[in-house]
Amino acid sequence: MIQTADRLRKLPPYLFAEIDRKKREVRARGVDVIDLGIGDPDLPTPPHIIRALQQAAEKPEHHRYPSYEGMPAFRQAVADWYARRFGVTLDPDTEVLTLIGSKEGTAHMPLAFVNPGDVVLVPDPGYPVYAAGTWFAGGECHFMPLRRPNGFLPDLGAIPPDVARRAKLMYLNYPNNPTAAVASPAFFEKVVEFARRYDVIVCHDAMYSELRFDDYVPPSFLSTPGAREVGVEFHSLSKTYSMTGWRLGFCVGRREAVAGLGKVKTNVDSGAFQAIQEAGVAALEGPQDIPERYRKTYQERRDITVQGLRKLGWEVDVPKAAFFVWAPVPNGNDSRAFATRLLEEAGVVVTPGIGFGPSGEGFYRIALTIRADRIAEAMERLQELAW
Ligand SMILES: *Cc1c(COP(=O)(O)O)cnc(C)c1O
Repeated sequence: MIQTADRLRKLPPYLFAEIDRKKREVRARGVDVIDLGIGDPDLPTPPHIIRALQQAAEKPEHHRYPSYEGMPAFRQAVADWYARRFGVTLDPDTEVLTLIGSKEGTAHMPLAFVNPGDVVLVPDPGYPVYAAGTWFAGGECHFMPLRRPNGFLPDLGAIPPDVARRAKLMYLNYPNNPTAAVASPAFFEKVVEFARRYDVIVCHDAMYSELRFDDYVPPSFLSTPGAREVGVEFHSLSKTYSMTGWRLGFCVGRREAVAGLGKVKTNVDSGAFQAIQEAGVAALEGPQDIPERYRKTYQERRDITVQGLRKLGWEVDVPKAAFFVWAPVPNGNDSRAFATRLLEEAGVVVTPGIGFGPSGEGFYRIALTIRADRIAEAMERLQELAW
């Protein structure tokens, strides 16, 4: 029998596999399952971006290996976008790196900077890739609990100094998945101070910075004074432009950190298909009316969800950004039992908070990546159950 490496066995059991299995069971019984679990945009990629790919795909120069660090035109488009959107000036040659989706970059980052036994500061609950990437590099995760009374921000003062001194990286993610929490410039200032004191590279996953609601505009970590000397930001076109399947992202910021990640990538992949990067330029530089409309669509869905949950008398914070609603499990704490009950009795899938880490227990996540009428129907089904 083949033995997998220890690093694979170290990964926690994949909770979502269990949900998938239950979902199939319930569907097999003939139930019309409404899936509020999947954080993958259902809205299509805007047509002008698809056309840009079609045209670029015809060009023979794109059929060869791309350049490792990314196409100059794409890196320039990223730098221009950062300047327009955040007022952050980046050198496209040394401070911007093309990624095959930002997941790829966040996962590879520890291979560049973490030695066995080094610590990485990881949010809990959080996107599972931060911990997995750390373990693959032989590092240890120190989990930073994100708690509601603290606005789902980590309490930096609670990180023991001896742990902080061993830390090489700190992952952060605002607007946040799964909690939909946002971070203020004042919080980012504290992060810069912490990173300076302990010489930690901050890896800010800014995936949801453009999925914003009402008048709220999320800041970039890199626009914090001093941030560019301590950290990088990960971003991608996946969520903003409904391009998760395309695999195109970027890492920007501190030069040495970008270079280290680039060196890892040079040795494991050969870059992103250039035609996709050309389409990425069309996304960043083209008309922004469709993403703007998509924001409104998610916002409508958010409002239906929040109203539905409140009608049940359940507590819920109104998210300012990202496409999730994160709410406390009503009358209890067991998120898995709650999710199982919703699926079995109402045919509605939500994600139990514990799937994102132990501090996610007591909460559940609804993804707003499904049509409004389906969300409304899910809310009606919940009203019909006895709570
Ligand atoms: C969706 C998601 C990603 C993955 O982005 P890709 O660019 O598609 O790899 C990264 N981080 C968070 C927090 C996400 O929710």
